[in-house]
Amino acid sequence: MPTGIEYLRNPDGSKGETWNPITGCTPISEGCANCWAKDQAERMKRMGCKKYDYPDPFAVRFHPDELDKPLHWRKPRRVGVSFMGDLFHSVRGWHGHIFKTMMQCPRHTFFLLTKRPKNMREAWNLYEMENHAENIYLGITAENQARLDERAPELLKIPGKHWLSLEPLLGPISFRWATWSPWRSFHPTDTNDLDGLRHFNWVVVGCESGKNRRPCELKWILNIVNQCSDAGVPCFVKQIPVPNTSAKHIRTLLRYGVFTDWAAAIDEHGWRVSHDPNEWPVSIRVQEMAK
Ligand code: SF4
Repeated sequence: MPTGIEYLRNPDGSKGETWNPITGCTPISEGCANCWAKDQAERMKRMGCKKYDYPDPFAVRFHPDELDKPLHWRKPRRVGVSFMGDLFHSVRGWHGHIFKTMMQCPRHTFFLLTKRPKNMREAWNLYEMENHAENIYLGITAENQARLDERAPELLKIPGKHWLSLEPLLGPISFRWATWSPWRSFHPTDTNDLDGLRHFNWVVVGCESGKNRRPCELKWILNIVNQCSDAGVPCFVKQIPVPNTSAKHIRTLLRYGVFTDWAAAIDEHGWRVSHDPNEWPVSIRVQEMAK
């Protein structure tokens, strides 16, 4: 179904798609505390949507009737796969069917995302996908340094194109080599301190949204943008925290403010989530697509 997710926009600027042959999940780490997909599933159930009409609308389920959908999209699309859950919550026979559909649609680009890269690797190997992945980006979500250090080495054992979703960003993240020893031993040729980051084809970053959103500092996001720029890795900033104050005040901060003023304004006025780059400091207005 067409999605408003900005980073899935098609090359011609039209809306990308989300495709959910699997829905549902269970929490695995701190990033799951305010799971967007779970809220959506419960909302859809309340709205009477058949797909979610179960006692637990967010239990893991396969939807065979969704399998063929991408085959009917004639125009090339960017497709987020099973964002209404974790595609690799467990390794199941249905992954073979989903991979098959993706291989039958080389015109589309599929973005897979998980917090369980070990399962992703198991499914990938089980269905011998190594040589079929030109139109598939394999991704992990990491909300802080510890989760990145835990998940990235697992993801990078899978050959192919890789991407990172650092959302919701709950702490600062450094890609500098000192924090990546498990990864370095897997890629012993890395010598530059940002070579680890260069194994990724794309990074998406954003603060948490929703009524229970947790704090995110602007400097954490800027630091990720800068590291990507230094490493030559495309970065897409999805949303940032802005002071919950007047547009005029934000314009003043943008004209004269430094980051400490931004933080002070947030301390004073609280914050809201902004998807509008016009409200962002210029150094953070970065929305590059995957290479
Ligand atoms: S892994 Fe993703 S889909 Fe699953 S509970 Fe956590 S945030 Fe929700």
